Amino acid sequence: MKDRQLKVVRLIEPELCLECRFAQMADVEMADGTHQRMIHCRRFDCDNWDYQSATDANGLDLDDAA
Ligand SMILES: [Zn+2]
Repeated sequence: MKDRQLKVVRLIEPELCLECRFAQMADVEMADGTHQRMIHCRRFDCDNWDYQSATDANGLDLDDAA
């Protein structure tokens, strides 16, 4: 799955997104080609994102389990 708009942002309170039903664990390919496990939050109005930390990501592999 490729998405040119994909951004990685720091979560101010990661536990808040973990408990939210819009969040899912994912394997993210960073701009430098490394992979990191992180939370994929699909809530567009989520106020838990630190936008100033935003960096580009190449791709996203969502876990199968919802
Ligand atoms: Zn969130």
